[in-house]
Amino acid sequence: MRFKILAGFFDRIEKVSSRLKMTDLLADLFKEADSDEIARVVYMSQGQLAPAYKQVEIGFGEKFVEEAIAKASGYDKGEVQKLFKKKGDLGLVAEELLGKRKQSSLFSAELTMEKVFRNLMKIASSEGKGSQPLKIKLLAELLNSASPLEARYLIRIPLGSLRLGVGDSTMMDAFAKNLLAEGKKEKGLVKEVRAKLKEKKKEKRADEFERKLRLRVREMIEAKYNVHSDLGSLAEKLKKHGLDGLKRISIQPGVPIRPTLAERLPSAKEIVEKLGKCAVESKYDGFRLAVHKDGSKVSIFSRRQENVTEMFPEIVEAARKQISVEDAIFEGEALAFNEETQEYYPFQVTIQRKRKYGIGKMAKEFPLTLFAFDLLYASGKNLMGLPFKERRERLGKVIGEGKTIVLTDAIVTDSAERMDQYFNESVEKGLEGIIAKDLNAKYIAGARKFSWIKLKRSYKGELSDTVDTVIIGFFKGKGKRTQFGLGGLLTAVYDEKSRSFKSLAKIGTGMSEEMLVELHKMLSKIKHSGKPKNVDSVLEPDVWVNPHYVIEVNADEITKSPVHTAGKRGEKPGFALRFPRLVKIRQDKGPEEATTVKEIVSMFKKQRHVKTGE
Ligand code: ATP
Repeated sequence: MRFKILAGFFDRIEKVSSRLKMTDLLADLFKEADSDEIARVVYMSQGQLAPAYKQVEIGFGEKFVEEAIAKASGYDKGEVQKLFKKKGDLGLVAEELLGKRKQSSLFSAELTMEKVFRNLMKIASSEGKGSQPLKIKLLAELLNSASPLEARYLIRIPLGSLRLGVGDSTMMDAFAKNLLAEGKKEKGLVKEVRAKLKEKKKEKRADEFERKLRLRVREMIEAKYNVHSDLGSLAEKLKKHGLDGLKRISIQPGVPIRPTLAERLPSAKEIVEKLGKCAVESKYDGFRLAVHKDGSKVSIFSRRQENVTEMFPEIVEAARKQISVEDAIFEGEALAFNEETQEYYPFQVTIQRKRKYGIGKMAKEFPLTLFAFDLLYASGKNLMGLPFKERRERLGKVIGEGKTIVLTDAIVTDSAERMDQYFNESVEKGLEGIIAKDLNAKYIAGARKFSWIKLKRSYKGELSDTVDTVIIGFFKGKGKRTQFGLGGLLTAVYDEKSRSFKSLAKIGTGMSEEMLVELHKMLSKIKHSGKPKNVDSVLEPDVWVNPHYVIEVNADEITKSPVHTAGKRGEKPGFALRFPRLVKIRQDKGPEEATTVKEIVSMFKKQRHVKTGE
């Protein structure tokens, strides 16, 4: 594919704000790609070269990009910088300067996506001191053959600022759109959808059929994505084999699985009413890790499917020594544990283990214990469909002797009193609370269901859980805070329906001076001119930012709000947090994994329920 085509689509996608139009454009783009190039088109549309878990980072500093632009356009660096100051976007700078370039290259050939991909890959893989000139040369070489529009996108990819707003969900919508015709040929599928439509009136059925079928195809795609988090390889299989391609995708050690998530209920009594006899485990406050063992090769993934293997050498070693089967995928919560005092360290200590440098030293100082809680795969078999009690039993058998990987503490009960007692014991030990688990439930990847229900120690206010919000902007601050450049944050929750971020709270407390400085630095890098198109907010911050960072927020309660858009329906007001305070930055969550509008509505209802004791 010529890069011109890709750049043309990016330009059109950037201009539309409706998600439906964006899906249509993506679907058209995917139609243009061959099966051997579609994976790359998918990655590049999200500003990447490979799925996130492969950790291919092109990260290229602005200074070097400026040099490449100067080299290719014939303008000197000072001029490039001056224009950058004015425009605030090096992509636009490259576009303008290449449009009136002073020198034209002798050897400019039309750019192919393949060539762009190859050069960017080389940039990503060259390391060390002498690598900068080579990287500049590789980028300048691409710019030499680029049209102004192509230059705009060529620059944004290595800078990590492409941000077309194409989330994973929209990608899958586009795949489903292209596969609708295939779906119509699948007799089983058609029968299933028709059966579901039976209750509807005859006239409605015809209208609804296509929509429902497309939704069903979309569900099938997502179910596979949940166990194989690589949209590129998924797209490739679908392109080659149509819907049948889905059958060729299975759980595989080394490719991350999206985690199952817990629902909330306000009391042990309600949990027992919902689940009956269930397993109850302590809720450890560390970070969730998925360990994949494939012979002696061990990979570790975070909650958001990043490859964090390098960070946890002691867990890699323990997986090799303690896990008795050849291959396995299991999950656990990793926590720094003080062997001497037999106490858990607080989260602030554990989080220090998430680092790129000084890993060995920290691993000695604060070794982690992995409290394993689920087994998804072992000895070549997918165990996700087994009832939890069986998976847990097998997990116990698979973990051999050792101190680093241990089973979570658990009881089985159908008594609310016993559950309460266990909850109190867990909290006394310094843990967060409990998670109750349905003994008969399958492992449901990528979804928040009642197969797991969490109950956390309550914070001071009425809210029994914290809320994870996404920063969408910041206020510059008044008085003393002017010196930090940041006085407060505007934050939002995720609306799954519209795939947008809806404002929920302005946060000004819970931040130390160091944190204000740090937040200002982080957020300045992702500034957005004007409101991002996937943000819905009536309130206007001083500076908008791209929805990227998730923070955990504690509050007294959820209230109805005339100003915030989360949960707002027509004339009906939205919701807000009363007295919100920042607890911590959630590095393990991406924006689409923040608390959802649906959860806020449900938390609001439960909160009233508790207060009135209904
Ligand atoms: P939270 O902010 O409450 O940690 P979350 O949104 O990260 O929530 P949830 O699914 O709501 O995720 O809560 C489950 C999380 O609790 C898991 O992701 C895991 O990190 C952690 N956890 C701690 N102990 C356990 C346990 N015994 N079993 C399962 N998960 C556990």
